[in-house]
Amino acid sequence: MAKKNTIVCRSCGKKVGKNAKRCPHCGTLLKMPLLGNIILLALLVFVILFIVLAIIQSG
Ligand SMILES: [Zn+2]
Repeated sequence: MAKKNTIVCRSCGKKVGKNAKRCPHCGTLLKMPLLGNIILLALLVFVILFIVLAIIQSG
């Protein structure tokens, strides 16, 4: 049994090779969503840290 080396394209729903940087069917960049999530998560952590720091300083 071969391992599942494919992912499903978020844009067109077709199977794409796991190592492919962009979908060969529709050309959508596949690495971008992950990077966007990491940036969003880092931003969220920064905002929470800022709020906690503001609460500590005011109290
Ligand atoms: Zn696609």
